[in-house]
Amino acid sequence: MRATKYQAIVIGAGHNGLVTACYLARAGWKVLVLERRYLVGGACVTEETFPGFKVSTAAYVNSLFRKEIIQDLRLESYGLKILERNPSSFTPFPDGRYLLLGPDPKMNYQQISKFSPRDATAYPAYEAMLERMATVLEPLLTIRPPNLVRPSLRDLWTLYRAGQPLLALGPGMSEAVEILTGPARLILDRWFESDALKATLATDAVIGAMAAPSTPGTAYVLFHHVMGETNGKRGVWGYVQGGMGGITQSLARAARDLKVDIRCEAEVEKILIRDGEVEGVALTDGQIYYAPVVASNADAHVTFTRLMDSKLLPPAFAEAVSRINYESASLKINVALGELPNFLACPGLEAGPHHRGTIHISPDLDYIEKAFDDAKYGQPSQRPILECTIPSVVDPSVSPPGKHLMSIFVQYAPYRLCTGTWDDRRESFTDRCFALLNEYAPNFQRSVLARQVLTPLDLERTFNLTGGNIFQGAMTLNQLFACRPVPGFADYRTPIRGLYLCGAATHPGGGVMGAAGANAAREILRAMSFRRFVGL
Ligand SMILES: Cc1cc2nc3c(=O)[nH]c(=O)nc-3n(C[C@H](O)[C@H](O)[C@H](O)COP(=O)(O)OP(=O)(O)OC[C@H]3O[C@@H](n4cnc5c(N)ncnc54)[C@H](O)[C@@H]3O)c2cc1C
Repeated sequence: MRATKYQAIVIGAGHNGLVTACYLARAGWKVLVLERRYLVGGACVTEETFPGFKVSTAAYVNSLFRKEIIQDLRLESYGLKILERNPSSFTPFPDGRYLLLGPDPKMNYQQISKFSPRDATAYPAYEAMLERMATVLEPLLTIRPPNLVRPSLRDLWTLYRAGQPLLALGPGMSEAVEILTGPARLILDRWFESDALKATLATDAVIGAMAAPSTPGTAYVLFHHVMGETNGKRGVWGYVQGGMGGITQSLARAARDLKVDIRCEAEVEKILIRDGEVEGVALTDGQIYYAPVVASNADAHVTFTRLMDSKLLPPAFAEAVSRINYESASLKINVALGELPNFLACPGLEAGPHHRGTIHISPDLDYIEKAFDDAKYGQPSQRPILECTIPSVVDPSVSPPGKHLMSIFVQYAPYRLCTGTWDDRRESFTDRCFALLNEYAPNFQRSVLARQVLTPLDLERTFNLTGGNIFQGAMTLNQLFACRPVPGFADYRTPIRGLYLCGAATHPGGGVMGAAGANAAREILRAMSFRRFVGL
């Protein structure tokens, strides 16, 4: 077949791949994006899974997507609209009480006071502490992490500069280090006495992780989830109008206007490499594309073990890639509903404030720990944690009139089961989740019109996510910053000249943030202008 030549090829049209493509194209490059699925977006998509419903198949809420990317690429002019959720969370309890939290400090005070007046007073200080940490750590999201294996003067300078804001915290530094390394439970136990509040906050610490709140490292996951904003409001999560695909569709429109070629149903089978240098890619359909730069939006395992012969890599690098932890225990259920859930704690079929935000079924910290205990031994949780959202309450465009759409993010559903397979257990586990939700909203099961279940195995099959890990690799300290994807290669380069990574596998990791894609584009442009400068 005829070969076509580009200046850069991006493997995968996840939101990060699209961001990389847009920034390269803005610099005047001729870019091709190849996506194996029928649509762009990776884990950030809207699909009409049920007729008339716009389902956010995987990712379901936004806060992390970088506002500078929205501005640089004028994504609002391409249709991107983020809708705030207020309140942002609702936790019903078995005793009939409930807790609402959101951006309104007065409401938070009144709500938390129902459980602990002391916690109600402490909560603003806790939020201020997170805000302080965010001010310190957020600038790190957009830098090129230093090479700690063979540090250059520039790396040492980056490390020094990165450390300065931490040092400036003075005695507060130990708190920051604890957030980077410690268990979320320790921090929540120190701040609060009410289990209702702690359990509500703790879910952010374990989302996407094969870990319980008592596991070291979970405090960072909690923190990672407060680092974003919605329409200028820190830590507030929103829905994307028309579903999460609103982000990636607007990126694709921007990319096309920048003359990026996007091909869907174009699966890369091999990255072409000659004498340690990338040449292009070969697709499963036999088509070959050439380019001196290839950026892979696929995870490190897929890129280095499936799309090339790993013998072409330095053994130490290949060994480090083989050690990346992809453990996961997340499962996603999407449901079309005939009516809204009627919660015992907040009765009524009309849309209420409690339907707007994330509905947490995780009544106390020990509940979460026990749910994780099952997963540790290869069993799906007997009583799982459910994070439910009903975007149709805030954005009626995602469901037909009178109907609703619910997304249920479930933990723990370990990728590795000790008995059976996910293909055998998919439906029975979903029934267990539905029965649990029915305990809190007895009309739930009968209101379900249709359901879609994505087990960890389905997430792997559908999105090419190794081990079903929703972040393209666990977000633990040994796999973050200068160690993501592996130490010595956190600068988006790889040992193959011209081959880069640009997705969540790289710093700053998972979530619909776009920072990895933007950072990768910046480093590619820098490297190429250096090569041109020295005449290579
Ligand atoms: C179930 C679930 C729920 C989540 N919920 C949220 C949430 O609510 N909010 C949030 O911020 N984050 C959430 N996340 C995490 C977030 O969606 C991801 O971290 C983010 O989408 C990763 O984006 P990416 O562009 O780096 O990679 P991906 O989205 O993984 O995209 C990679 C793309 O590469 C393509 N690809 C792979 N191999 C090839 C190949 N050989 N040839 C061609 N194409 C290839 C894939 O098909 C895919 O489209 C969730 C993730 C999942 C799975």
